[in-house]
Amino acid sequence: MNLILMGLPGAGKGTQAEKIVEKYGVPHISTGDMFRAAIKNGTDLGLKAKSYMDEGALVPDEVTIGIVRERLSQDDCSDGFLLDGFPRTPAQADALENMLSDMNRRLDHVIYIEVAREDLFKRLTGRWICPDCGAAYHEIFNPPEEAGKCDKDGSQLIQRDDDKPETVDKRLDVNLEQTKPLVDFYSEKGYLRRIDGSREINVVFQDVDALLQESR
Ligand SMILES: [Zn+2]
Repeated sequence: MNLILMGLPGAGKGTQAEKIVEKYGVPHISTGDMFRAAIKNGTDLGLKAKSYMDEGALVPDEVTIGIVRERLSQDDCSDGFLLDGFPRTPAQADALENMLSDMNRRLDHVIYIEVAREDLFKRLTGRWICPDCGAAYHEIFNPPEEAGKCDKDGSQLIQRDDDKPETVDKRLDVNLEQTKPLVDFYSEKGYLRRIDGSREINVVFQDVDALLQESR
């Protein structure tokens, strides 16, 4: 089961990834974790990646792709993997196709968890936290009893910078722009599967699960 999971911030990708891993036991390979591990293990590619990151530069594709190749060659990936955050560009997607074909493997599904932008905006900007006890609330999904106040200690709730409307808007724009070419790439290949992520978590997973039972 060789999978890619795609979705914009707030689409519930992380939650669905957890559920896939729990049910199917495939390793969840996020780009961030993969880089951290390569750097921590001091592999040649890890050190190369680090030298770019230390300078605040983008890690070149050849290094990123090499790290992915190393990771996918490890034993725990022999029955499949769930890639998250890679590929980011059609060029990387192409490299992945070639890499898998070298390994005599192929992608089974590319799952795109889709949620309308205005809903993502509501999800992402609705988060409020208590500065005193750390309790987290959401205007829609988990509102405090009294608007703007912590249920436990009555403190005034605050919004993290990441959750502020301007920041969220920008993040969604950047992500949408980045995701579109990849969505097109996999649509053209004919194995992009869109899942409506606007529904309840377990309902979304039922669809994901049904899809995983099918072959491409
Ligand atoms: Zn509190």
